[in-house]
Amino acid sequence: MNVEQLLGDKGREVISVQPHRTLAEVISTLTERRIGAVAVMGADGALVGILSERDIIRALGEHGAAALESAVSRVMTSKVVTCRYQTSVDELMELMTSGRFRHVPVVESGRVVGIVSIGDVVKHRVAAIEAESRAMRDYIAMA
Ligand code: AMP
Repeated sequence: MNVEQLLGDKGREVISVQPHRTLAEVISTLTERRIGAVAVMGADGALVGILSERDIIRALGEHGAAALESAVSRVMTSKVVTCRYQTSVDELMELMTSGRFRHVPVVESGRVVGIVSIGDVVKHRVAAIEAESRAMRDYIAMA
């Protein structure tokens, strides 16, 4: 299984914000869309960062409620680890585990074509394990 197949199951919508937006605006987006992170894109659509709920909590912890008016660009992570359609789910898990993050944008030809989260990976793993156990039970029942 690779990232392209994972995206086929979950969809390719990319929810993004521009770097000049405020954290308060991002909180509204995260809440409305029920997600944990947004891609940060410049006016030209290029990926310039990623901002997750962890970044917002950290900013609030450091600066209090005033952080809500901070620009996304001041709080986001600029060095984004990305993957490609052909990245395997195993490689993706390794990226998330070693980088200690739960979201990875998928980039093809310089454009963000999707975002995969740890939730998507776990869902896939659970489905695979269930299918394996069903196959085992069927095999035992036949014997
Ligand atoms: P998360 O676990 O995704 O909520 O993110 C934890 C921290 O890692 C936050 O500071 C994020 O900005 C950062 N982060 C999330 N995804 C990535 C990524 N793909 N590449 C680099 N940093 C990331």
